[in-house]
Amino acid sequence: MAEGDDIPADHPRHDSLVTRHRIEAGVDAGITSKQGLIAEGRGEAFDYLLGERTLPSADAAARTAAAHLLLARHPVISVNGNAAALVPDELVELAGAVGADLEVNLFNRTDERMRAIADHLREHGASEVKGLDADARIPGLDHERAKVDADGIADADVVLVPLEDGDRAAALADLGKVELVVDLNPLSRSAQVADVPIVDNILRAIPTVTAHARELADADRETLRRIVDDFDAAEALADAERAIRSGDLS
Ligand code: ATP
Ligand code: MG
Repeated sequence: MAEGDDIPADHPRHDSLVTRHRIEAGVDAGITSKQGLIAEGRGEAFDYLLGERTLPSADAAARTAAAHLLLARHPVISVNGNAAALVPDELVELAGAVGADLEVNLFNRTDERMRAIADHLREHGASEVKGLDADARIPGLDHERAKVDADGIADADVVLVPLEDGDRAAALADLGKVELVVDLNPLSRSAQVADVPIVDNILRAIPTVTAHARELADADRETLRRIVDDFDAAEALADAERAIRSGDLS
């Protein structure tokens, strides 16, 4: 059982309390950075305004993300300290469901934290974790931020980047990769540059993508392409912004 899972499911701030506990534990375990605590606080404010629920538009985005991952030649899920602390089991499950690689990718990169996160993912069932080779670079970013694996993110055609920082999200999009982003702030640059912005808490978003991927596992490529083509990123962002601004928590 993960830290914070003893909070009653009907507690009015359930997701927020679970998230806080897990991030705190992540910092204690050397997985999450102190910056990650601040990022979590920002996300939490948006989740509060969304009523801690998955909007229908976010569910549609998650379904589109699943279709992209299933269509991909080489899908990669990028994992940072917050994602690893919040949803390690769920990330491993999604990677298995769509045949994606998991790659540790940190904004504040230290060897210790890279290794702690890779070990943490393996403890949660990952067989292979990329990111430690760092033998390729994303153009347009400074040295430390640019490091990726040549046979991981550098080679990927579809990348899922939960809670990515804006600069790196933009640099990945410039490389022509299909970028799937999970970010509670529809106005953040990461969400804005994504091909598929999923405006939802990562706690809910990753299991939702996995559920859609399982349901679509036997769909033909034409069906998957239609799901991808029918998705409108700008409309999904506008819908989330509307929900947040209206403040209707029902
Ligand atoms: P920009 O993308 O505009 O450059 P930023 O990347 O500097 O903004 P940060 O605060 O560094 O912003 O990034 C944290 C982002 O992650 C925020 O947009 C926040 O809403 C989002 N976030 C934090 N926790 C979660 C979570 N549990 N689920 C989904 N999104 C989250
Ligand atoms: Mg951002």
